[in-house]
Amino acid sequence: MISKTVSELFQENPKHQDVEVKGWVKSFRANRFIALNDGSTLRNIQCVVDFETMAEDLLKRITTGSAIQVKGTLVESQGKGQAVEIQVSGIMVLGDADPELVSKTILQPKRHSLEVLREQAHLRARTNTFGAVMRLRSSLSFAIHSYFNKNGFNYMHTPIITGSDAEGAGEMFRVTTLDPKNPPLTETGKIDYSKDFFGKETNLTVSGQLEAETYAMALGKVYTFGPTFRAENSNTSRHLAEFWMIEPEVAFMDLEGNMDLAEDFLKSVLEYILEHNATDLEFLENRLEQEEQTKPKHERSTMRLTEKLKFVIDNNFVRLSYTEAIEILKNSKPNKKKKFKYPINEWGADLQSEHERYLVEKHFKSPVILFDYPAQIKAFYMRLNEDEKTVRAMDILFPGIGEIVGGSQREERLEVLKKKMADLDIPEEELWWYLDLRQYGTAVHSGFGLGFERLVMFATGMGNIRDVIPYPRTPQNAEF
Ligand code: ATP
Ligand code: MN
Repeated sequence: MISKTVSELFQENPKHQDVEVKGWVKSFRANRFIALNDGSTLRNIQCVVDFETMAEDLLKRITTGSAIQVKGTLVESQGKGQAVEIQVSGIMVLGDADPELVSKTILQPKRHSLEVLREQAHLRARTNTFGAVMRLRSSLSFAIHSYFNKNGFNYMHTPIITGSDAEGAGEMFRVTTLDPKNPPLTETGKIDYSKDFFGKETNLTVSGQLEAETYAMALGKVYTFGPTFRAENSNTSRHLAEFWMIEPEVAFMDLEGNMDLAEDFLKSVLEYILEHNATDLEFLENRLEQEEQTKPKHERSTMRLTEKLKFVIDNNFVRLSYTEAIEILKNSKPNKKKKFKYPINEWGADLQSEHERYLVEKHFKSPVILFDYPAQIKAFYMRLNEDEKTVRAMDILFPGIGEIVGGSQREERLEVLKKKMADLDIPEEELWWYLDLRQYGTAVHSGFGLGFERLVMFATGMGNIRDVIPYPRTPQNAEF
């Protein structure tokens, strides 16, 4: 007989048919009720054992965490809380789990803090919370690919090892095969990277954008979805050293089109999980609700998780220029009462997470798209506006998260781009191919980067980015 997953069993019509299922024991009550989970769904299937017909030494081996195979009859459940259950006819233990050892791990069924779960990240996927988060993560990735596929985008795999550091100065991980104890040196005593594997200095990518642009200028609509690395030493709940980024890039699209795309895209993928991941979302919503209850009243969120998702889907994002945002922030209560760590005094200030969250959570109570930022605080490739002070940049800010998307219309004018690079001391030789794009059929084009884990945080309500990726990479931490 072919084994079915628990999820499949729940979709079956119970008519006393023989079934077989494999999974891990969540609990075994009264020598009679096994709660079995196989990860296909949050829900456990109840397996009812007739202990009088079972060998005692077999019953003893059915312990929390053990892997078993169950054969039996699928019937309508006698008890409350589940539609179907299995009347067990046979059990085989596939992998034992010593209760003594289990009691020292997070497999022991009780509440464990997320911090403790992180220390046993290889086991945390067996908890309800991480099962739900990881199924949602998977579902969101699928929704993302599906959205782009439906809309005529081509999936591009941009390189992970890059030879340009124009974008990530100081924040990159070096890739080298040189001997750190005895590297070849140049005449002036510097490390001689011409002797390195690629014959030049190379790093792990901080973004696939520049390469994606070259493909957008050939295929029209492209996107990347791949790992991204940043050696920024910011130990926050929203930064990872290794994260996944989605970067669409579209030829002949301006900043307005870019905002429309980002908004439609975000709404569409959130809609997908509301439709397809109801069980996991409900679980996480209740979990979050309990967590909220432990907070002081004024800090509690007024919306439940799925309400938040629906709110984003059903409402237009507020679109606001940087200049307007600065006015609001300057005159805001926390600024006047000196509650911001970084007070807003003048135009040109870089917005910190506290400012972004004020705009989104307090002032507008809605996702916000900020655009037309001062040129000095944004990257070299963003298109300069007529005022010559601002660039066609846009950041999308989400409640509880802050920046979730950063994008722009790209500078398509060769001379303007060259001047900008010269001002910033970016050597033309390093990006000759990027400049070439502006010589051979240059055109208006735009794109954005969405931090995948920030989206998963929003969708699951998890408060720390370390808890939405299987194995987080952060400063001083690369276990597992
Ligand atoms: P932040 O100001 O939050 O550090 P950023 O301005 O450095 O973000 P971009 O360079 O615009 O971010 O990258 C695009 C998107 O990638 C961001 O909007 C964010 O969602 C995500 N992102 C950036 N850095 C990280 C990181 N270290 N870990 C996880 N996601 C990140
Ligand atoms: Mn950053």
